[in-house]
Amino acid sequence: MIGSRLRTGLLYSIMTLTTLLLVGGTAWLVGFPPPARELAAPAPVSAASRANAVTAIPAPPTSPSPATPIPPDHASLPAADEPAPPDPAAPVDAAATPTPRAAGTAPRVGVQVGHWKTEELPDELARLRNSTGTSAGGYTELQVNLDVSTRLAALLEAEGVSVDVLPATVPPGYDADAFVSIHADGSSDTTRNGFKLATAWRTSPASRMLHDLMRAEYAAATGMVWDDAITTNMRGYYAFSYTRYTHAITRTTPAVIVEMGFLTNPADRQFITTQPDLIAQALANGILRYLRERDPNDGGALIPPEPTRYLVQPAQSVPIYAAPNGNSGVIFAAPPDTRITSFSRVGDWHEVFVRAPEPGNERVIGWVWHADLESRTTQEPAQ
Ligand SMILES: [Zn+2]
Repeated sequence: MIGSRLRTGLLYSIMTLTTLLLVGGTAWLVGFPPPARELAAPAPVSAASRANAVTAIPAPPTSPSPATPIPPDHASLPAADEPAPPDPAAPVDAAATPTPRAAGTAPRVGVQVGHWKTEELPDELARLRNSTGTSAGGYTELQVNLDVSTRLAALLEAEGVSVDVLPATVPPGYDADAFVSIHADGSSDTTRNGFKLATAWRTSPASRMLHDLMRAEYAAATGMVWDDAITTNMRGYYAFSYTRYTHAITRTTPAVIVEMGFLTNPADRQFITTQPDLIAQALANGILRYLRERDPNDGGALIPPEPTRYLVQPAQSVPIYAAPNGNSGVIFAAPPDTRITSFSRVGDWHEVFVRAPEPGNERVIGWVWHADLESRTTQEPAQ
């Protein structure tokens, strides 16, 4: 669970898979060294698999307490520590280019078990040492994360992928073909359900592709609903924050964080704890599809965009949309003097972070049409 909700308009959305499929598809044709055997197509989830509870996560030894409190998690970080979107004035990472892979190298994937061994986190992340995640119905998030991650690793390895199962502490400068952090959600509202995924604030095209394919495959395999309440702490997940921490992924490692569902929701919890193999397969399908469909020669796809700042001109207003789509609805009209930070771009749309001027100082994440930025704002020079 990674909490801390935005006060306004929590928004996230994906570009169309159509574009991704156009971009992908040719991976094996353009020279990525095939692993020992070709990555399999996503496995269909059989009725037998759905019904199979033999490999379920062991039920809690004692009958669950009906009133298990939701322990604090990342959501309880003090406001000053809340991850912020990237600062455009921050120095650019010198190691900007992707690490070349030797010919014949199998793809490497890091599977991070959320909250595993948090007590061993280094001093730079000491404030997260008590981040133990959520718990409900006698299950802890760590227990579920560890179980599904172990099964996921086995599925990937069976397809020729080199897998690192990582604890909360990411090795300094961790570099891989994909990094996936596994979590389960929690809420005091036990009716909240569904899964979500998020990328870092600065989303490279590769990270977006990994995200979109994993989202599509997870929904297809599990039938679970998508929860669009992405939190700032998911986007600013510490393991993504290579500009702030040594123990983080490299800038060019495609990465997503997954909330598999709500452990605090009885139906989600039942699903996740009795059918961990299905959950693991749903995650593996998306990762394997990404590895199969990406263009391994497109190093540029691994580079996150540099954020750019714009200031809304006098007597102007800039509509912030819920999704990169003019029909998605305007969630905020940015008034004059609002600073709009573009940290990602999809076609003619910018994903932006907005902090409105007084009053309210609302924080909004959404999408702006490029033409509106050009005609209604002034771009601020890089510092
Ligand atoms: Zn968590």
